[in-house]
Amino acid sequence: MSTSQNSIFELMSQSGHQNLFFCNDELVGLRAIVAIHDTTLGPAIGGVRMLPYESTEEAIEDALRLSKAITYKSAITGLNLGGGSAVIIGNSRLDKSEVLLRRLGQFIEGLNGNFIASLDVGTTQRDLEHIYTETDHVAGLPKAIHGSGVGDPSIFAAQGVYFGIKACLKELYGSENVAGKKVIVHGVGGVGERLIAMLREENARVYVSDITEEKMLKVAAKYKAEPIPYNEVFDHEFDVYSPCALGGTVNPESAQKMQCKIIAGSANNQLKDELVTSSILHERGILYAPDYLINAGALIGCYSEIQNYGVDHTEFVIKNIYNATRDVLKKSKEENISTFEAANRIAEKRIQDIKKIKR
Ligand code: NAD
Repeated sequence: MSTSQNSIFELMSQSGHQNLFFCNDELVGLRAIVAIHDTTLGPAIGGVRMLPYESTEEAIEDALRLSKAITYKSAITGLNLGGGSAVIIGNSRLDKSEVLLRRLGQFIEGLNGNFIASLDVGTTQRDLEHIYTETDHVAGLPKAIHGSGVGDPSIFAAQGVYFGIKACLKELYGSENVAGKKVIVHGVGGVGERLIAMLREENARVYVSDITEEKMLKVAAKYKAEPIPYNEVFDHEFDVYSPCALGGTVNPESAQKMQCKIIAGSANNQLKDELVTSSILHERGILYAPDYLINAGALIGCYSEIQNYGVDHTEFVIKNIYNATRDVLKKSKEENISTFEAANRIAEKRIQDIKKIKR
């Protein structure tokens, strides 16, 4: 991509983006970009991601990709939020400071509520607190800071994945019961470990894998699960493969190789080469629960916080991920399309429908 004005506008048109805002403050060393994809459903929400991007182009592309994904995530889970994203160009360990985050807060305040900031890679709840000092347009705060704060979002993310797994089991085996089912959880961090706890509670046969061996062995021992070296996860048969580490583990090569019946996990952007990979999975009869649907628990928590609805509302909406996943699987079957395609169509239809009453 070149930075010419035309190419930026072309990129935005291709992906249906509404706005791209830039903040450059040399005094505090802030270079940030806020992308707003679509606000048909409501104000755009998005994580604040801080990464040492190698170029402005790379940062713009990330902001555009992330914000579009949030629009779809919100649409398919029935939330009234649009898709946004904020990216800060910098090293979160070295360059982050109170003043930088508060300056970002002022920038977000200037967007007049069109963008609501939440957590992403490279930011913590403490960082959100600094942003919150300058603007109210923040979600995902700790309870102690904001009355209806959601607390730890990874619990909600894990709950959504759990309901996604159950919906797939129901489709495949006629029962959502996880007892005795072989589930491999790939990545035993905040979300992965909570998911393992829920699965073990219902006597699933859990296998765990993590790039950090020590962590893998510790979690395996704690939950009586079996450890699998991270480079062997596609060498064994499982009922469910649950990617809870990084994106891209499901690619054309692994999709051909894997011996699971269901893919359902929390990692964002699990599919590499989405169209090719999703059609391989479809042809092989592997049920893929779309990541942006079943990992929406944290976003749902933020929505409850914005609306002052509280945790009961969050858990109620997260439970509905079960039905939403069933709808995707049904559409995929009826129209003989991949589940990835089916989910996109459902999300896009909701946005188009709501547009009709927002003219
Ligand atoms: P985390 O950083 O707490 O845990 C990730 C785990 O994956 C770590 O234990 C890490 O050692 C392991 N890992 C990293 N690379 C690996 C590799 N190549 N092979 C095996 N293991 C590897 O992250 P998290 O909060 O548990 O989130 C997990 C995934 O879910 C991420 O992709 C995240 O973007 C996504 N997600 C998280 C939330 C949330 O609320 N935490 C919400 C939606 C989506």
